[in-house]
Amino acid sequence: MGKKPVKGDATTQTWVKIVCGIMGFLMVFGVLVMLISSLQTAAVESNQSQTVPDQQISVGLYCNENAVQSYALSAEHGVQIAVAPSGLTVSLDSQNVIVSVDGNLYRVGSELSTTSGGIATVGGYHIEISYFTFSDLGIDTDHDNPVFIRPGSTAGSTDGYSPANVYDYISLLSDDTTFQALSLPAFPCYVSGQKCYIRVGNFFTKEEAEEALAQLQRTMTLNASIAEPDADSVTVLARDYTVLCEFTGKNQSYQITPTDDGVIRGADGRAFCGTISMASVKDSSRKGINVINQLSLEAYIGALLPSEVSSEWDSELLKSMAVLLRTEITRKLGCHDADGFDICAESHCHTYIGRATATDRVLDAVQATAGQILTYDGAPIYTPYAMTNGNGTVSAKDAFGKEVPYLPAIYTPWEEQSSWSVEFTPFELYQLLSNAGYREITGNVASVQVNAWAEGSDYVTSITFTDLFGGSVTVEGSETIRLLFSGRLPSSCFVVGLAGESVEYTKRTLSGNATEYSESKETVVLAGTYGSFVFMGSGSGCGVGFSVMGAKALAERGFNYRQILNIYFPGAELPDSVGTE
Ligand SMILES: [Zn+2]
Repeated sequence: MGKKPVKGDATTQTWVKIVCGIMGFLMVFGVLVMLISSLQTAAVESNQSQTVPDQQISVGLYCNENAVQSYALSAEHGVQIAVAPSGLTVSLDSQNVIVSVDGNLYRVGSELSTTSGGIATVGGYHIEISYFTFSDLGIDTDHDNPVFIRPGSTAGSTDGYSPANVYDYISLLSDDTTFQALSLPAFPCYVSGQKCYIRVGNFFTKEEAEEALAQLQRTMTLNASIAEPDADSVTVLARDYTVLCEFTGKNQSYQITPTDDGVIRGADGRAFCGTISMASVKDSSRKGINVINQLSLEAYIGALLPSEVSSEWDSELLKSMAVLLRTEITRKLGCHDADGFDICAESHCHTYIGRATATDRVLDAVQATAGQILTYDGAPIYTPYAMTNGNGTVSAKDAFGKEVPYLPAIYTPWEEQSSWSVEFTPFELYQLLSNAGYREITGNVASVQVNAWAEGSDYVTSITFTDLFGGSVTVEGSETIRLLFSGRLPSSCFVVGLAGESVEYTKRTLSGNATEYSESKETVVLAGTYGSFVFMGSGSGCGVGFSVMGAKALAERGFNYRQILNIYFPGAELPDSVGTE
């Protein structure tokens, strides 16, 4: 901009490797800058700050307004369902189970819900038997039905409680010829973890259930009633939609664990450490089940880490990321207290896809830094990070207007450059500005002028657009500028001009194996479609804080995780390591 367009094939090929840069002001040729080295040599801050104890945390997977009507789980050797508060434990051999709300269930794809319109799959009305005799079979039932289950005992076990084994009764029922003729399924229903009824059939209407009951009563003496869908009940189905059992009772929750201490998988294949806890949504206006993963904090960090970094990368990078994630999660713990869990599985807290592929290298990095978090003034720090920040960061003050002492701007020429180039036609820029509410711009944009950069940074903080009628608008703030482009501009670390123009930028070249570098002023010809404005830059995101690729480069240069964190979060404190580093 302001430069005469120059031609040059040689330079057009070089732009892809080029870092985004400041256009010339405060340029000094060949000056060796040791800005960062002072950070590097500063003693890694440590004090008596406490480590965070490992603790059970609850991660809300699908809760409240996101509650599900059914959730499928699998575990290689079956699942155990522990009912709170009664303590009843039910073991199921099925590898795959679906926990659903109680009601008429309709299927769309593999999803079950009470919304009619899909394939009618499981009826929510059942015959509930509390007492039966087989006069024709001559079985004398002085059984004390309903079947009582002692709290804490394992339903289905034959541990001496009479009559504890509901399946014995189900098997007796199944021997009945009328029962066989009607080919009705039968399954246990555990009531408040205290007693158990046998439920029979899955009917979509009460009338159908009553009719079937009348038929059964012709040949056997049944003390039975019709159980209707109930908001305080859940149904557990096999993957073929056979009902395995039901639970009913107010304010119950269900802790589901794999029988063999293995992993439990969610419907989408997500593997989870710990237990999956389910409970009916309290809000009576909504039918649903809250799904929560309960696991230890350290296991959770181990589960998050593979989503952020490759487990094959340098172990010091893995450790720095483990500390960063632990800090972030510790800071956020409790923000969902009102929702009934500690942390959500969405980007609001942290996107969580389950255990993913936590390898030994990942788990080692978590263990080596166990409990360690970064603090400032005794509190966990704010830890923004991105996969790449380009060749530098921007201070929190310049990005967000908020002074954060441990989030200054730093140049990071050690980071592998990932430059990008984005084109906008004059009309597209007019549209973007118009959509953003800048009424001063009433036509195609004729010029784009960068006015200022963030202090000590290549991030643009002031930019002026002028249209062909002379109307102009100046947009301030690196984040405001980035967000103006509706996601099409990866970061506000860029140079800009018309395609074919030659623009200046600052190149920083590392000297040696450390973080020292020299600066030089370079020019690049902006490659693009004639007449378009070309934004060429690097980095992705707000540019504040930690960069995964930058930390990776430092780790590969021999920096340990404490040094890496100290470079990106200078002044933040890290407790002394207890174990080896
Ligand atoms: Zn959240």
